[in-house]
Amino acid sequence: MNSKTVGIIGGGQLGMMLADAIKKLGGRVIGLDPNKDAPITYVADEFINASFDDLAALEELGKRSDVITYEFENVKSEYLKTLEEKYNVKQGLKPLFDSQDRLREKENALMHGLLPVRFFNVESIDDLEKGIKILGYPCLYKTRTLGYDGHGQILIKSELDIEKVKPYLNQAGILEEYLKFDYEVSIIMVRDEDRTVNLPLSRNIHKDGILDITYVPALVDKQLEKKIIESSVNFMKSANYLGILCIEYFIKGDKFFFNEMAPRPHNSGHYSIEACDYSQYDLFAHFLLDMKIPSTNLVHQAIMKNILGESLDLVSKFEKIPKSYIHMYHKTEARPKRKMGHVTLLDVDYKDYLEIMKKM
Ligand code: AMP
Repeated sequence: MNSKTVGIIGGGQLGMMLADAIKKLGGRVIGLDPNKDAPITYVADEFINASFDDLAALEELGKRSDVITYEFENVKSEYLKTLEEKYNVKQGLKPLFDSQDRLREKENALMHGLLPVRFFNVESIDDLEKGIKILGYPCLYKTRTLGYDGHGQILIKSELDIEKVKPYLNQAGILEEYLKFDYEVSIIMVRDEDRTVNLPLSRNIHKDGILDITYVPALVDKQLEKKIIESSVNFMKSANYLGILCIEYFIKGDKFFFNEMAPRPHNSGHYSIEACDYSQYDLFAHFLLDMKIPSTNLVHQAIMKNILGESLDLVSKFEKIPKSYIHMYHKTEARPKRKMGHVTLLDVDYKDYLEIMKKM
């Protein structure tokens, strides 16, 4: 058993599920979040109720913890640098810094052997028009920073849509080729100095820019799957990242394109709690607590569905389905599109899932 204390910056559902895994291994958890009722408060041993901009509070977290991690991606990098100099931020600032800006993220992916869809830096209307000329319609404008779940994204189908981008041009953005991909997958890896362990590829289906479901196995051609796993592991080594990393890809034919990465547990890995012998949270908890990272295998075919604020009525329906595992995040306010919980269905394939949903 381990008795280290892990400080987690961010107390949402990812922090809550990570805290569960850390505690299972004997570790202690301190969460930090501006919301006094954050999901992590239901699990953590201690809680600091403070803004992510409160350097004194972040320092307090550092003082009280043996190791610090983050589940919230937009911590100011200069604050994290200060913490890194004084405390044990075991993953380091680098992966977070690289992922905080879409331009930096894609250039970094390219530098370390992954291919993103074609992109163009946009800092003015001129850049935008030049980019559109090169990429053609449709293309996708995204703000470079602070985007999540499809926020800050505008699909440009014709000249008329340029107007919609103009209000965003006071901040930097990128223009991307709109790829008519066949499907999306993600991979989650956990790496320490000795080894890199990966979860299986998962197939992800988004609705309105938000992850709707994930299923495993991802049913990817074996050779392509091997290539994706090898390239992802090599990327993590080449970029010299430690800890956890999720990479999302678009698949078209036998090609895979880097979309984005996240150096924290990921929504597309929730299924692993029940479907793998060690979940993404367990693997990362081992890393944080300086324990050997175990190998993990898929032991059940599974589907994970996010439960959003507008679909809470699904909970009582899923409860009646055998081998359904419902996780609610204790969020008090149910807003549309807000992730309130998720359900994992074991031993169900995508076709079965569609049947279940039709009956509901
Ligand atoms: P992102 O926030 O970049 O992950 O985008 C959210 C979702 O929008 C992705 O998972 C895709 O389903 C879709 N999307 C993002 N970028 C593109 C693109 N360049 N081409 C086509 N679809 C995209």
